[in-house]
Amino acid sequence: MDLHLDAEDLNSCVQCGLCLPACPTFRVTGDESMSPRGRIQLMREVQDGDAPLTDEVLRSFETCVQCRACEPACPSSVPYGHLMERTRETLADGGHITPGWQRVAFKPLAHPQLLQIGSAALSVAQRAGLVPKRLGLSAEIPFRQEPLTASGTDVYLFTGCVMDAWQREVHAAGQRVLEAAGFGVTPTAELAPCCGALQAHAGLADDTRGLAATMMANLAPDRPILVDSAGCGAAMKDYGHLLGTAEAEAFSARVFDIQEWLADHLDKLPQARPLDLRVAVQDPCHLRHVQRVHGATRAVLAPFVRELVELDDDGMCCGAGGAYSVLEPELAGAIRDRKLGAIDRATPDLVASANPGCSMHLGAADVETAHPMELVDRALRQV
Ligand code: SF4
Ligand code: SF4
Repeated sequence: MDLHLDAEDLNSCVQCGLCLPACPTFRVTGDESMSPRGRIQLMREVQDGDAPLTDEVLRSFETCVQCRACEPACPSSVPYGHLMERTRETLADGGHITPGWQRVAFKPLAHPQLLQIGSAALSVAQRAGLVPKRLGLSAEIPFRQEPLTASGTDVYLFTGCVMDAWQREVHAAGQRVLEAAGFGVTPTAELAPCCGALQAHAGLADDTRGLAATMMANLAPDRPILVDSAGCGAAMKDYGHLLGTAEAEAFSARVFDIQEWLADHLDKLPQARPLDLRVAVQDPCHLRHVQRVHGATRAVLAPFVRELVELDDDGMCCGAGGAYSVLEPELAGAIRDRKLGAIDRATPDLVASANPGCSMHLGAADVETAHPMELVDRALRQV
């Protein structure tokens, strides 16, 4: 079966295995078919050897968290993330993965009003104790939220879909921090309803391309687009590759993680008394392994908390993986257990995480989390 993978990309893997220790699914299973090397080998066998798509092969592909920790570990620069996204796109197109209910579940993400209605219903169900624990919804989903108001046109703040519906207070904190640094902020709201990251992970790349095209058409081409969700930022920085146009490349070049942006403008932030907290930094995979700007989180947070502490697990995934924690709860839980051990050893007061999915997944295990922007905002607003 042709997976439509670039032969050069596929053959760039020399099967050395140096990526294996970085792979969370290999670490918790010890199974070669759950490793990057094993998955690439199966891609080859399917594409070049016409091997059948057995349940085992599909399971190998479906259990990949798409954390991309294997990429920085790879001396041959194998573009694993793109190989896996392309594989999933081909398999989804053929109806081998991503069943109909999943496709239906993704639909409201591109329609903010539908998402608000669904979230309000979920909020009521959650308060009535009707939401299954396996969904890992740690915090209470808000029934209604205050709208964000534009304060200027220096930068866009991407607000997105689920995060805006469930964690708008993080956007509000980020906006206040940007304003304290002197930037006028336009929240993107309906201009950019969804980045398409979850859809791309599920193999629904055409949906992502459509959302990318909407966003590119709606956002003025003259200003930076700041993102406070690591997964969304990584997806938007990849539009150039996904769409393959100069326009998309130019758009992606305007996308910055919010900490990445602020780290370059630290001198503009007011000084404040540091919060009396020992904060452990949890690096979302798509900030550390994909965007590779996780150093900025530390640079921005350090002046505003008493102490930053590193986890001793070399940035291993927490198991959230977008919708992964819902689709693969056992593996996601086993991966999270390793992260919980690292957090316990660091003995923090709380954990800073720049990705909503990681926060929810850790929160579901009773870890107190906050977005880095919430901590900076809290320090700036101390009286
Ligand atoms: S993306 Fe993550 S889970 Fe998938 S093979 Fe690479 S390291 Fe393993
Ligand atoms: S992906 Fe890279 S590190 Fe992993 S086996 Fe292939 S060449 Fe080696």
